[in-house]
Amino acid sequence: MKSHFKFGYLSAFVYFGLVSASAAQELGPGFTKIKDGIYTFAPDATTTTCSFVVTQEGVVMIDSCNNPLYGRNMLAAIKKVTDKPIVFLIDTETHTDHTGNHFIFSPPATIINHAGAGAGMRKEYNPKRAETLAAQSAEMREAVKGEKLIVPHIEYQGRMTINLGERTFELIYLKNVHSFADTAIWMPKERVLFAAAAAVVKGLQNLRPSVVIADVLASYKLMKALNPEVVVTGHGPVTTTKTFDEYEGFYTLLLKRVGEMAAQGKSLAEIKAELKMAEYTDWNGQDRLGLYIEVAYNSVKK
Ligand SMILES: [Zn+2]
Repeated sequence: MKSHFKFGYLSAFVYFGLVSASAAQELGPGFTKIKDGIYTFAPDATTTTCSFVVTQEGVVMIDSCNNPLYGRNMLAAIKKVTDKPIVFLIDTETHTDHTGNHFIFSPPATIINHAGAGAGMRKEYNPKRAETLAAQSAEMREAVKGEKLIVPHIEYQGRMTINLGERTFELIYLKNVHSFADTAIWMPKERVLFAAAAAVVKGLQNLRPSVVIADVLASYKLMKALNPEVVVTGHGPVTTTKTFDEYEGFYTLLLKRVGEMAAQGKSLAEIKAELKMAEYTDWNGQDRLGLYIEVAYNSVKK
């Protein structure tokens, strides 16, 4: 399998900065091999990214993919690469588009996220989820069979290290960056960072009012200090720390503009109506700019 990847798909290499990753075409569209035994599945520019890492002792997954079809796709891909069991599944956040398909992987996977994750998931769980998904298509109806809420078996505090086989995974809690519990996963030997949804690739997200911009900016600092070679965010393709720089630039400019308008006595509604971020119109999710303005407004008003 190894040599197949190495020599079979040189032409499919994608370059970004100093890093190269190869499209793992035999695993299907959207799969990328980051390094030996490390794969991501990013179906497109905005859909939830999920990943898996093969170790001598079994597989570690990061997030459970956007929907049950993608989850089953992921399971099939893992089985093509290794016959080892999925030992751990680490959630980078609590939202359903990352955690809703635990049932496909657990058992056997033990699920892990920071303290507060289980409570957050219970609060957000939609009991009609299976029914709604099943109505989408015959394939989805099949894929969603067995759907149920499974909250993390293990909740850690602050930081946690997992040693499995030859690999080390450092779990780092990122406070107030996106959901009820956000976890970055750092692989120090491989220099691969799974960065949760503190920043995603060129896109505006469904930003919750609980997000604190100062904490988000602090998380970029923390993650950049790790000096990762490859960064995998919660949504979109494999990238580098340039995504943190882009997002930092965006937030800094947003805070500046919202701050100036608020100082002129403008209301939140007026700022939302007037403020444009023309430098970022190529980002996905433009209709969510208002959410960002609101969070910025609350932070400059403090
Ligand atoms: Zn989310």
